[in-house]
Amino acid sequence: MDNTKKDLTIGVDLGGTNIVSVIVNSQGEIISYLKNPTFAGRGKEATIRRIIETIHKNIVQSNLAPSNIRGIGIGAPGPLDVEKGVVYFAPNLPGWEDIPLKKILEEEFNLKVVLENDANAAVWGERCWGAGKGINNLVGFTLGTGIGGGIIIEGKIYHGHNYGAAELGHMTVNKDGPLCNCGNYGCLEAYSSATGIKNRIRERIKKGLRSPLLNLDKTESVDTISLKSIFEVARQGDELTSEVVEEAITYLGIGVANMVNILNPEMVVLMGGITNEGDKLLIPLRKEVKKRVFPTNYKFLKITIGELGDKAGALGAATLLW
Ligand SMILES: [Zn+2]
Repeated sequence: MDNTKKDLTIGVDLGGTNIVSVIVNSQGEIISYLKNPTFAGRGKEATIRRIIETIHKNIVQSNLAPSNIRGIGIGAPGPLDVEKGVVYFAPNLPGWEDIPLKKILEEEFNLKVVLENDANAAVWGERCWGAGKGINNLVGFTLGTGIGGGIIIEGKIYHGHNYGAAELGHMTVNKDGPLCNCGNYGCLEAYSSATGIKNRIRERIKKGLRSPLLNLDKTESVDTISLKSIFEVARQGDELTSEVVEEAITYLGIGVANMVNILNPEMVVLMGGITNEGDKLLIPLRKEVKKRVFPTNYKFLKITIGELGDKAGALGAATLLW
């Protein structure tokens, strides 16, 4: 590697639980990786200090001269303004309101800083270095506590009029559906996110259903159960969980199908915890999508799982500088 050139960038993925920082070269190789807890509960100032600390530590850990670094890309939860570099609001980061994150980091590091929505950054990571490498029309779903999304059109992230596009988790899939965190009823997130699935199970416990296999008999007990166990017992025909899991996959299929008929992408990439289910998720999901979209839109469509795991966001953010 030629260290006289500024051929390295820093990518940061700011999450409610962890901050991931990577130093990446122009081939998408990670030179240095660091993951730190966010401690979001300690408030706005502490979280900002934590981001700065993580980046500094990663530079020190890499043994690289800061002069080789071209800039910092950071993926943050939104809504935010990419151009102004301001995070307006972040539900998982208490106290975060109108934070000029780009300016704060530029002043601290004296480097160019690019801000992006975290889900957009993750999808961009997969587009550049993962499952979607070289794919120019791509839709990505990040399936975690909530559901985020990213849309790549003709090789570019689609932001919408004021950076609010691709909130795929908040498309309405059922007008009479459950209340979502966003205030709307029947959003995809209310069915197919980890939170949605657990809430649906809680509702069924209240109605008197039980799961002897999971020892689920109180609504509080749902908090400690992993998504993996829920899917496992659902497949064994567990009464409490099987309908909820089936419903989660069906509604995800509806959400994917909607995007496929609107945008006719070449690929839909799925990311996040639920994708650990692999083919057990993909097979019924593809079936659901196929049932609902134009055959011509399905014919060449790939529905696949991301390859970069929890590094997708940071890698994507780092690549925004190129
Ligand atoms: Zn919603």
